[in-house]
Amino acid sequence: MAVPFVDLKGQYHTLKADIDRVVLEVLDSSSYILGQYVRTFEQEVEHFFGIKHAIGVNSGTDALLLSLRAMDIGSGDEVITVSNSFFATAEAISLAGAKPVFVDVTEPSFNVDSELLEAAITPRTKAIIPVHLYGQPADMDEVLEVAERHGLRVIEDACQAFGAEYKGRRTGTLGHAAAFSFVPAKNLGCYGDGGMVTTNDDVLAERVRLLRDHGSSKKYRHEVVGYNSRLDALQAAILSVKLKCLDDWNEARRRLAGQYGLELRGCDVVLPTEAPDRKHIYHLYVIRTKNRDQLQAALREQGISTLIHYPIPIHLQPAFGDGSPSCLPVTQRLADEILSLPLWPTMPTSSVTLTSDAIKQILSQRQ
Ligand SMILES: *Cc1c(COP(=O)(O)O)cnc(C)c1O
Repeated sequence: MAVPFVDLKGQYHTLKADIDRVVLEVLDSSSYILGQYVRTFEQEVEHFFGIKHAIGVNSGTDALLLSLRAMDIGSGDEVITVSNSFFATAEAISLAGAKPVFVDVTEPSFNVDSELLEAAITPRTKAIIPVHLYGQPADMDEVLEVAERHGLRVIEDACQAFGAEYKGRRTGTLGHAAAFSFVPAKNLGCYGDGGMVTTNDDVLAERVRLLRDHGSSKKYRHEVVGYNSRLDALQAAILSVKLKCLDDWNEARRRLAGQYGLELRGCDVVLPTEAPDRKHIYHLYVIRTKNRDQLQAALREQGISTLIHYPIPIHLQPAFGDGSPSCLPVTQRLADEILSLPLWPTMPTSSVTLTSDAIKQILSQRQ
């Protein structure tokens, strides 16, 4: 592969000594589930965000699900979100027993169109889940204002946005709760599954803690029916090592995104933009182009790996089935045109050039 999509192994090798040491330490501690390593990582995240509670759970999906359950959202309730996201955003709503209601997104951010929220609210609506897609914060002031006016809760899906900022504040601290994912390719990734809920609400935090551990606050006493959804100690220890590098990695992503922007300037593609009051952390660098599939195939032939996030909007997935392509026109158009280019924090600048040159060459042949 001339340019892979990400390089997870390379990142491990830059931190190998520290990671190997903490892994062996955890193995030797026999504290494998919850316990000191998870609590330490939670405290580090609380400090990183300046937030009262960070609760380690099994996945980003469970972080959303447990937040919804902790808010007593379930059967008969509706939750507004976007269709232009990873499937889990809506899956978590369904798993809680509620109904996902999709609104369209806006350009150029590809995030929720806050002007459409009001019309989607019904007497059953309980919450809004804005997604900070690709690492770009959604319009949180507008979302929070609508939510406040209608007495709704806001859960940030910050699974792609660990370290992003909105008006100088980190995403994950803006709503009533937020969900993070630590799957390997996320900006802060572990070596398996992992997730986290952040909140300033003491009652909510207590309920999420209860739910993640079989509804139990005391050994063998179960207050409610919960889940087995705990963050592994091994993953927490690895994440503690990686968290120290995260701001630098995000800055590196931003620099590389800037380089893509310069190299692809003038090309017949729509480049991602960053609103002036936000810090986009480029979990993904996503361009838009007509004839996307041809461009992707031609890049593949040159050994350049790209992906599509996401090819089928959630409302058109077989699992949700009742959507029609015309009801969310912007979402549908994006699904046909978006292409995620290779990007990882230690990506060589020469690989950005190689990828950009290949795109320019392929597009110029098209004319
Ligand atoms: C990754 C992701 C999730 C789910 O996280 P998992 O840890 O895979 O369960 C949810 N929402 C978004 C936007 C994501 O990118």
